[in-house]
Amino acid sequence: MTSWDRRILVVGAGFAGAVHARALAEAGYEVDVIDQRPHIAGNAFDSVDDNGVRVHRYGPHLFHTNNERVVDWMARFTTLVPYEHKVLAEVTPQLLVPLPVNRRTIAEVFGTPLPDEAAARAFLDTLAEPIDAPANAAEYLYSRIGRRLTDLFFRPYTRKMWAMDLEEMSAAVVQRIPLRTDDEDRYFPNDRFQFLPADGYTAMFERIFDHPRIRVSLSTSFAPAMRRGMAHCFNSMPIDTYYGDRFGPLPYRSIRFHHATEQGETAPAGRAATVNFTDAGPFTRETDWSALPHHRVLPTGRRTLTREEPCDYRDNGFERYYPVKTSDGRYDAIYRQYKALADREEGLTFIGRCGTYQYLDMHQVINQSLMGVASFLAAASDAPSGSSASASSEPSYQTQPG
Ligand SMILES: Cc1cc2nc3c(=O)[nH]c(=O)nc-3n(C[C@H](O)[C@H](O)[C@H](O)COP(=O)(O)OP(=O)(O)OC[C@H]3O[C@@H](n4cnc5c(N)ncnc54)[C@H](O)[C@@H]3O)c2cc1C
Repeated sequence: MTSWDRRILVVGAGFAGAVHARALAEAGYEVDVIDQRPHIAGNAFDSVDDNGVRVHRYGPHLFHTNNERVVDWMARFTTLVPYEHKVLAEVTPQLLVPLPVNRRTIAEVFGTPLPDEAAARAFLDTLAEPIDAPANAAEYLYSRIGRRLTDLFFRPYTRKMWAMDLEEMSAAVVQRIPLRTDDEDRYFPNDRFQFLPADGYTAMFERIFDHPRIRVSLSTSFAPAMRRGMAHCFNSMPIDTYYGDRFGPLPYRSIRFHHATEQGETAPAGRAATVNFTDAGPFTRETDWSALPHHRVLPTGRRTLTREEPCDYRDNGFERYYPVKTSDGRYDAIYRQYKALADREEGLTFIGRCGTYQYLDMHQVINQSLMGVASFLAAASDAPSGSSASASSEPSYQTQPG
């Protein structure tokens, strides 16, 4: 085995890059990681601010999954603090109701007593409009929950987040949104594992990268010449940028974060960590970081609240957050053209959110990355010698999405 066979370039120090780097290093490869940002952890980056509070710079990152193997992998690098996220929606400054919509939400919005689930379901039936074949998201929601709840919780959010009206969106998009008539108020009720890393994501990434065969270079943008001398490049940069936008750009929605300081160590009683806004203003939600476990790091008597203002990525320094999915699938079609080019490349694999142009939660990126490395190692069949931790010494990971 030559030194050439042992060197891997990983572009991006977010979850996709970090998991690839660690798994490959443990299999005996020498791994160079680069990131154009001055910090590791990608969009999961967090740091303690002047108010002594841990703030996730790119919006709140709540870990939730049913995939036990992903949890086992993360637990090697951090202590997991249980945390079940709950969200309130501000109907008026005086009226905060659970989101996703549940029995209490319906009762409080309409000011009507709904003592149990049956009463809530019967009441929803009176609101639902008889639309047999909903042609779009608005009609689907009207047919399930009527106009008032649709126009309060879904219409303004969709306009702010996607710059679209519900009429422009396919019914399939909103069919996945949970609408409950019981009292379940957890944001991720179907996920068995929900937690936050005890000392933050950045500290966890430091431990993931802490391996003698991993070198990390920050504030370093990818250049094609960097692939020279590398056996393989795992690349989480935007795939359209890599190919010079030759089939057109793949658009994203982005978010501008507005931070404010409030007096007081802790959030007022009854306030959730995240409050969504239902008004027509520019903000979708506000996070009070002090309400998340282990996020008050130093006592200062002050706390930080962050409001999110969605926008086009071109209006936010090309910060790419959410791939734009239209009902006609035109951007997915462009992505497939880039992917076809990439599939013909030797020694190059696009990974992660921007490499594969899809919104992925953290657990999905970890799972995909572990599966991707397992396939790579299987194809390479003879992993380089001198490895102190072979792939087989790691827990095995499922080869189908969890
Ligand atoms: C606002 C927001 C909230 C989210 N909340 C949650 C949540 O609550 N729970 C959850 O599970 N997931 C959440 N996610 C998703 C989570 O952020 C992603 O799953 C995860 O960050 C994907 O990791 P990644 O490595 O693919 O991408 P990233 O984290 O974006 O990392 C990619 C890295 O590549 C670098 N890079 C790009 N181009 C280049 C280049 N040319 N040269 C060098 N480096 C480059 C970037 O600087 C970046 O650091 C959220 C995402 C957003 C946007």
